Amino acid sequence: MTSSILLHELTREDAGAVAPETLLVLPVGAIEQHGPHLPVGTDYLTVEYLAREAANQVKEEIPILIAPTLPFGSSHHHLSFGGTMSLSTETYYRTLIDLGESMIISGFRSLVLLNGHGGNHDLIQLVARDLAIKHKIKFAAMSYWTVAWDALIKVGAHKQCNLPGHAGSFETSAIMALRPELVREPRPHRDGVTDSDPQSFHAAYRDERHQWLEKINGYTDSPDQGDAERGKTCLAAIIKSVGQAFVKFHKSGN
Ligand SMILES: [Zn+2]
Repeated sequence: MTSSILLHELTREDAGAVAPETLLVLPVGAIEQHGPHLPVGTDYLTVEYLAREAANQVKEEIPILIAPTLPFGSSHHHLSFGGTMSLSTETYYRTLIDLGESMIISGFRSLVLLNGHGGNHDLIQLVARDLAIKHKIKFAAMSYWTVAWDALIKVGAHKQCNLPGHAGSFETSAIMALRPELVREPRPHRDGVTDSDPQSFHAAYRDERHQWLEKINGYTDSPDQGDAERGKTCLAAIIKSVGQAFVKFHKSGN
C-alpha cells in the first residue's frame, strides 16, 4: 500500500480500502487571464499547491487524499481578454456533480472542494449542498481566501490591496513566492489603492465583473506592490488555516 496523499497514485484496491474513512479533497482552479504579468494558470497552480501542502501538514491527524486538480473553472467574465478557458455555469455545475458522484460511488463519505478562483465560489456551494443532501454524506465547499480570511488579515494581507482581488498584489505575491520565473516584468502600477475592509471578503468579486475590460484592464489593484516574502507569509498562513479546516470538517458529525 502506498503512503501517497495523491489519489491518482493509488490503485483501485488502495483507494477502495481507505475511502470510507478518508477525507477526499478536490482542488478546483481556473485557466484565465491574470493581467499582462501573471500566467493564466495562476489559480490552478496556487490551489493545487495549497491543497497538497495543507494535506501534508495534517496527514498524521486525519486520513486524507488529494484528487487531481480540475484546471478549468467558471471564467466567462474574462473571455474577452483571451488566454482564458472557461466552462459555462451549467457545464461547470454538471462537471462537479459528475466528479463528486464518481468519488461518492468509489466509497468516499467526506469530501471537500477546495477552490482557488472567485468565479467558482457560488457554484461550488451549490454542488456541495446538492450532493450532501442527495447522498447523505459530508460535502463541503471552501474558497481558500474565505477559510484563511482571519489569518490573512492578521498578517496584513489586506493592506494597500484588494484582497484577494484578481491578479493584483496578493496573487502576484503568491506567484512570486511559488513560481517567480513565471512573473513578467515590469508589473503594472495603479494609483489610489486602499486597504481592503477586514470585515468583508465578498465585495471584491460581486461588484466589478462587468467592468473587467473597460475599467480595470483585468487586474484589481497594483501588481507592482507584489512581493515574494509577502507571498510566502500569506501562503503559509493559508496552508495552516486550510489544514485546520480540513481536520475540523472531517472530524465533525454528519
Ligand atoms: Zn486568480
